[in-house]
Amino acid sequence: MSSGFVIAPPAVPSLAVAGTSDRFPVRRIYCVGRNYLEHIREMGNDEREPPNFFQKPADALVDSGSTIPYATATKDLQYELELVVALKSGGYNIPASDAPAHIWGYGVGLDMTRRDIRLPGKPWETSKSFDRSCPCGPLSRVAETGHISSGGIRLTVNAEVRQDSDVSLMIWNVPDIIANLSSFFELKAGDIILTGTPHGVGPVNPGDELVGTIDGLESLTIRIGAPAA
Ligand code: MN
Repeated sequence: MSSGFVIAPPAVPSLAVAGTSDRFPVRRIYCVGRNYLEHIREMGNDEREPPNFFQKPADALVDSGSTIPYATATKDLQYELELVVALKSGGYNIPASDAPAHIWGYGVGLDMTRRDIRLPGKPWETSKSFDRSCPCGPLSRVAETGHISSGGIRLTVNAEVRQDSDVSLMIWNVPDIIANLSSFFELKAGDIILTGTPHGVGPVNPGDELVGTIDGLESLTIRIGAPAA
């Protein structure tokens, strides 16, 4: 090894960029839980609780067009379609008014969830942060899309509509999310944020095809394969 590392360094996780073969390198994946009221209601959670944060490992990313195996250790693998925000810079305690200046682009992502082990009082790690739990479509540059604060967000499973809402219905909008998140963590270039799912979450089965769309962004298509060996 001439690199100075004692084993071969792992690949840098990355996302496709719309309209180019370039890739966006990903440092961390932050996720917002409970950011749409109708989803809090369908889960039976407390409407007065503010949204919360968790992370997925960056190597949980999967490109659009992929087949992901049905996850191990669950009988209730579910989809959550979410707007993805990609940062080109960061910091601590970013005011909401400054947040848009840190955004590189937007995309469409899935927060895949082992719902049957997302139990009250238990850590979220094994339910949310597993291998291939973060399929994401190509990112589009802010310069091309403008900032995304409204627009339809829709998921079909085998061409049947399962989630159909609007990004404007977030409890914390994107600048609020960046302001809140940066009070806990120093955000940096390469961080992406999944901004929470609207209502209509549900299970997937091997053979299903999931298509996620958000108005103005590149779509995401994922197939569910046989259970991982
Ligand atoms: Mn989610």
